[in-house]
Amino acid sequence: MHETPFDPETPFDDKLHEECGVFAVYGHEEAAKLAYLGLYALQHRGQESAGIASSDGRHLICHKAMGYVADVFPPAQLAALPGHMAIGHTRYSTTGDSKMLNAQPFSVACNKGLIAVAHNGNITNAAELRRELEAEGSIFQASSDTEVILHLVAKSRERTLAGALREALLQLEGAYSLVFLAQDRIIVARDPHGFRPLAMGKMEISKHKIGYVFASETCAFDLVNAVYQADVEPGEMVIVGPEGVTREQWAPRRNRAHCVFEHVYFARPDSLVFGRPVQKSRERMGRLLALEHPAAADIVVPVPDSGVAAALGYASETGIPYGQALIRNHYVGRTFIEPSQAIRDFGVKLKLNPVRHLLEGKRVVLVDDSIVRGTTSRKIVRMVRQAGAREVHLRISCPPTISPCFYGVDTPNKQQLIAANSSNEEIRKFVEADSLGYLSIGNLTESVEDHNRDFCYACYSGNYPTLIHIDEMSADNPPLG
Ligand code: AMP
Repeated sequence: MHETPFDPETPFDDKLHEECGVFAVYGHEEAAKLAYLGLYALQHRGQESAGIASSDGRHLICHKAMGYVADVFPPAQLAALPGHMAIGHTRYSTTGDSKMLNAQPFSVACNKGLIAVAHNGNITNAAELRRELEAEGSIFQASSDTEVILHLVAKSRERTLAGALREALLQLEGAYSLVFLAQDRIIVARDPHGFRPLAMGKMEISKHKIGYVFASETCAFDLVNAVYQADVEPGEMVIVGPEGVTREQWAPRRNRAHCVFEHVYFARPDSLVFGRPVQKSRERMGRLLALEHPAAADIVVPVPDSGVAAALGYASETGIPYGQALIRNHYVGRTFIEPSQAIRDFGVKLKLNPVRHLLEGKRVVLVDDSIVRGTTSRKIVRMVRQAGAREVHLRISCPPTISPCFYGVDTPNKQQLIAANSSNEEIRKFVEADSLGYLSIGNLTESVEDHNRDFCYACYSGNYPTLIHIDEMSADNPPLG
């Protein structure tokens, strides 16, 4: 393997591995407003841009902009999105070229009519497909892989949108949970491995009328009074139109590869993801972490919000009191942290502040969900110690992150992943903790009750469930598996 020195301070690569939230609704007169509420609940999945496309059966209108959902859609903007069906998207900030051109939904007028699409995931053969399409004359506006799908659909000789979509999807590799809007229907689809989540719900609109919703996470259903029905299955397409609902398995079943990181960190704990309560997984991670890496300590402290559920599990299992000794300021916008390196340096202090009297003289178990580059952990350990803690024992509710994700989670390249380049003891020293313990892959598997190997653990094992194309890798950064 090609070894590169660990350098946590170098900036993230320009990448298109987007973390996103998607939403779709059919059958409600105020569809755009519901999409707004759904995106509001999915804001944690992406804060860089937001967009909604809606249709009243004839006109398809799309609005998107940089910023939080609430800022992008003032009431007048929502009122300008008519119709009983809508799709929406929130996009996470990656650095570099991730600006307005890549905001979603993408909408186009083509020989299949007006269509809009929003995507969560990462298509691993996008660069190759794009080269082929460009050679045939297609013109791309953005660098996002989602645009490739629209071109494939437009190019297809199939006459219906569903047919063209089927043909397009068969050419894709990697991770995608997709929501499409046409003038008279919505179509959603999930890749055959089921990397990213996509849940389906129903809502009663009147005594005789049912509406349908789809979302990355079920927390988006609660706000619009929808009830979770099932997941869109891996390799399944669901079409909702004037004729009702059609579910179709468009791809042969493949080995499942649900992203375990959704349960570790990404999803909200009040969501069902892959049909399973996220809170339940996290608490179990904490309990098993306590059994695997006990510590003689006086208090269990979570790094909020990501470490809270696991810390509760750790405290329950050990009987060590739980204390919220780090308080998070929820009103720190990204803009505050982004402008300059000087501000970035005290970013953690803007976000978190210690409760001194809980920490003074104490032996602290500090629980967080993950270490990526290690710089955040180091700042937090220092903060806890400066607040008077006698010992700081860092416990992480997932295994060491040793390999980048190619399926839609924004991990830096291998060079910047501390665990890819350092031993446990080196990491402990780097983060300045008295001890360090990670959850094992075996116990992570146990925490999500993955008895059939339905989850993807590639970021912890280096074993990727699909072939990764050369374009996807930086030369320094070959996947192991
Ligand atoms: P660091 O080790 O300094 O790179 O930061 C690790 C922290 O970032 C963890 O405690 C997580 O809460 C958070 N984190 C981990 N993975 C991601 C991700 N893919 N996107 C955003 N935040 C993340």
